[in-house]
Amino acid sequence: MVAWFLLRLPYQLRSWKEPIRLSRRDWIDWAVLTFMVGCNGVIPFIYVVTKFPRFANYPFVPAFAFIGTAVFLAALWLFYRTHRDLGRNWSMSLEIRRDHRLVTTGVYRWIRHPMYLAFLLWGLAQTLLLPNWIAGPAGLVGSTTLFLFRVWREERLMLQEFGEQYSGYMQRTARLVPWMF
Ligand code: SAH
Repeated sequence: MVAWFLLRLPYQLRSWKEPIRLSRRDWIDWAVLTFMVGCNGVIPFIYVVTKFPRFANYPFVPAFAFIGTAVFLAALWLFYRTHRDLGRNWSMSLEIRRDHRLVTTGVYRWIRHPMYLAFLLWGLAQTLLLPNWIAGPAGLVGSTTLFLFRVWREERLMLQEFGEQYSGYMQRTARLVPWMF
């Protein structure tokens, strides 16, 4: 979580200076983001510090922890790459910047939503790393909720903004898994 926060920090600070031309930020988007912070941040933090909810613990499986660590490192790498590639065009919510440019290079050459894939990998890693039936899978619930609520609205916004440039990009790329989905 600390690495995640530190990777995002410079982009977050810079994004406050980039003027917004169009915003679709509404209460639904805020509610979804808050829900994800609860599932992927607050719940695992409370679990790690207090072991609550204890009744849902199951025995630690070393193999799960190894795979979970590898998945989490992959998620961190992807999260870093998406920020590098999106640069000034990144927003935490559904927004178009003043000089917004459609990015189709770097990891965006392969899939349209690598940052949401990084969050889904976080959810999977959390499930594997925390031996608890609630605190673990909560990560997948949070990341999946963000993906499901965001992706259609974001693509509609991008189509409205970039028209044929984005529909061509949609035809060439998959959402999350290259050439498949
Ligand atoms: N869905 C992308 C980006 C998430 S950040 C991903 O998962 O990697 C959300 C913001 O990124 C939105 O406000 C949208 O305006 C912007 N965005 C999404 N795809 C983009 C692209 N290919 N080029 C530039 N900006 C993009």
